[in-house]
Amino acid sequence: MSLKDRLIRQIRMDGPMPVSSYMQTCLHDPKDGYYANGAGLGRDFITAPETSQMFGELIGLWLVNAWQATGASTTFNIVEMGGGRGTLMADAMRAAHAAADTNFANGLFLELIEASPALRDLQAKKLEPFAPSFKDRLEHVNPHLTFIIANEFLDCLPARQFVREDEVWRERVVGLDEDGELAFGIDRSDLRAEAAADMPPVSLNGETEVQPGLDGLIETLSDRVENGDRFHALFIDYGPDNHAPTDTLRAYKNGEQVDPLACPGEADLTVDVDFGRLAKLAKGAGLSVSGPITQGEFLGKLGLQERLDTLIKANPERAEALFQGAQKLVDPAEMGTRFKVICISTPSLPKPAGFE
Ligand code: SAH
Repeated sequence: MSLKDRLIRQIRMDGPMPVSSYMQTCLHDPKDGYYANGAGLGRDFITAPETSQMFGELIGLWLVNAWQATGASTTFNIVEMGGGRGTLMADAMRAAHAAADTNFANGLFLELIEASPALRDLQAKKLEPFAPSFKDRLEHVNPHLTFIIANEFLDCLPARQFVREDEVWRERVVGLDEDGELAFGIDRSDLRAEAAADMPPVSLNGETEVQPGLDGLIETLSDRVENGDRFHALFIDYGPDNHAPTDTLRAYKNGEQVDPLACPGEADLTVDVDFGRLAKLAKGAGLSVSGPITQGEFLGKLGLQERLDTLIKANPERAEALFQGAQKLVDPAEMGTRFKVICISTPSLPKPAGFE
């Protein structure tokens, strides 16, 4: 039975489900979830590290810089959340090991948090020289100084959608239409109090979208502070920084945007990340927040132009491709401004590079 048929059967039995439950099942169903086999990455959508090696390389140099700023600790973690095909971390590790002395390699524990078994295999293979270990959750990472990297991870955290009707917030759900096909609807039963309490007093178009996973993430990070850990956590993703996202659920298949209900499990599902709310949650938990700033600005400050010049000098035959790749990362018409970068840190660490 296809995932779509299973969802239809489940809705017939249990009633409509919140958009977040639909998203969770489509992405992570163990049998048919989009990420369960991981085959779609690079085909359905292309991320920054898959666009240009310079993206991962600059993050690698950022990591060395952050490590040196702590006095080159003898034991530390680099954690990647949702590493996809392992491209970012492979580029980062190559650049970091070339730039740092052997204490970096000797002190490093590379920890990978990845939901997809297929992508774990890919990451294990690609990163083998750096002896990575896999953890199910951030809570399981050893308590050392930790640098967390996550590119296009937050946008996969399931979102709940709310619509304002007659002065009341109602939740958007996935149910069935008259033909028994998947369809969006509104749950008109009274919203649970704790969800309503989280709603902004005013939202755009009387709609709003909330990723409860952001709250969980900040809680996990602040628990680490209570244990005396120190960390920088760098998140790169798309989303607004000055208002809450409204209805941003989108599906991508073969590079095209498709109806999110059309082919559950066969298309990537994604939402915009509410950077303003993430920053507010982090500050509320006593953490330091750098950014959000645009990806274009961040990569510029990390020295994208210099890196590009060096690479072109060493590989003149690839000059055009290298230039095009760098351009895509920073061009406002491509990834330059839609993508934001935020770093959430323990207050005791010096401010991370790229946000001066
Ligand atoms: N960072 C990569 C891949 C982005 S796609 C890149 O930039 O190319 C999203 C990644 O997050 C995938 O590897 C997916 O399997 C993983 N992922 C999504 N939700 C997750 C979760 N809840 N826990 C761990 N990994 C998750």
